[in-house]
Amino acid sequence: MEPLYEGKAKRLWATEDPEVLRMEFKNDATAFNGEKKAQFENKGRLNNEISTLIYGYLEKEGVPTHFIRQIDATNVEVHKVEILMVEVIVRNLAAGSFCKRTGVEEGMVFSQPIVEFSIKSDELGDPLVNDDYIRELKLATAEDLAFLRKSALRVNEILGGFFAECGLKLVDFKLEFGRLANDPSKIVLADEISPDGCRLWDLKSGEKMDKDRFRRDLGDVMEAYAEVLERVKLAVGG
Ligand code: UDP
Repeated sequence: MEPLYEGKAKRLWATEDPEVLRMEFKNDATAFNGEKKAQFENKGRLNNEISTLIYGYLEKEGVPTHFIRQIDATNVEVHKVEILMVEVIVRNLAAGSFCKRTGVEEGMVFSQPIVEFSIKSDELGDPLVNDDYIRELKLATAEDLAFLRKSALRVNEILGGFFAECGLKLVDFKLEFGRLANDPSKIVLADEISPDGCRLWDLKSGEKMDKDRFRRDLGDVMEAYAEVLERVKLAVGG
């Protein structure tokens, strides 16, 4: 059997139900738009476990998502969606491309979260765009964008508090959204939520506990992901 879609870190498979897909987490890691590649044993399992617990928490908080259930160590069942070609990034502290773009030092704390949009395109390197670009490119309507912004800020509030309970600072993260295949009027949160797409710093030591360990060759990449999982497990259990 062939996957319906293979991305950098996941595969999507059809199921017997045309409105349900199986999402498989791979052990592949990529950075810098796919230029840097590696494989880490257990990465698929760790990201699946973390993402599943976080999706469960978000659902409990009333955030509509594509998530249905975990199938096994590296697979979940999700509602089929048409992914919006707009990625939504929320930033609480300066890091990554924000620092590159502005020259600001990493760690500057923003007075309010920054929400930004980029085009989901590996070919173009996910370029940063504003509302007017998105309107003219017909990637989303003004109403959709307002919804994405509001949803992303709500997720930021929920996850900021959640990760604080885990002893982690939620520095920034990327979200993807999709229209439900069986009801395209509904936009839900989709894709994974894991240390691959979130910057998480240990509240006490400031240590990076996310994909920056891979991007910057800091070592102990999976050890950090495993530590995040342990803390997430404690936070949802407690
Ligand atoms: N991010 C992501 N996928 C992308 C771009 C960004 O998951 O294609 C995440 C990234 O892990 C970080 C946040 O979004 O937590 C902000 O990333 P930034 O724009 O600083 O990009 P970078 O150049 O660091 O990938």
